[in-house]
Amino acid sequence: MKVKELVNLLNLQEVTPFKFCDYKDDGEFAKFVYISDVEYKDLIEVFDQRPDYINKYDMLDEYIIDYMNLKGKSYTNDNIEIRFADVTVDELFILMKNMSDRDRCKTIFKIVRNSCYPLNEDELKYAVAIFTILHELGHSIYFSKSNKNVLEYSLWESGYRRKFGNGVVGTYSEIPSEKWSDDYASEKLDENLDKVREYLSILVK
Ligand SMILES: [Zn+2]
Repeated sequence: MKVKELVNLLNLQEVTPFKFCDYKDDGEFAKFVYISDVEYKDLIEVFDQRPDYINKYDMLDEYIIDYMNLKGKSYTNDNIEIRFADVTVDELFILMKNMSDRDRCKTIFKIVRNSCYPLNEDELKYAVAIFTILHELGHSIYFSKSNKNVLEYSLWESGYRRKFGNGVVGTYSEIPSEKWSDDYASEKLDENLDKVREYLSILVK
């Protein structure tokens, strides 16, 4: 089964649009996108022109005003989507197992095993795919709940991610949006896996 079909089966298209693209072999197979690549590049450019602040991330309002003034832009939520590699559930399982961040990989498999009734090999593959889908959906819900616009959210997120990159925050799974999305996916995993169990049993009959 393709991940695309799995998303349809679980009826999860309603919350956030999913977009499926060719996999580029870059390790980026699932991503919550809220800002366009061009906007993000512009933003970082403006951001990097202000090295005078010790902690840029405490100065978000100033940066947003700078950005608006320099680029004369207003923000919309037009770019929000969940971008997925157009792969099968089996292919996604291999991508997940071979993730370059080994700690993150272990965390995901641990969460999946702890969130479901004992899994056979086939169910584990579906569970990992569903976890990945729900995790990205979690990012989208977390964004909506933040009440931040795309620009504020982007700066806020990149702040956390840079700190993580500098080893200040700890592990990837401790980035607040990652933690929230993991918890969301964990909570919803088994009920969604049941839908697949039901579907697969219909196929067998
Ligand atoms: Zn994530």
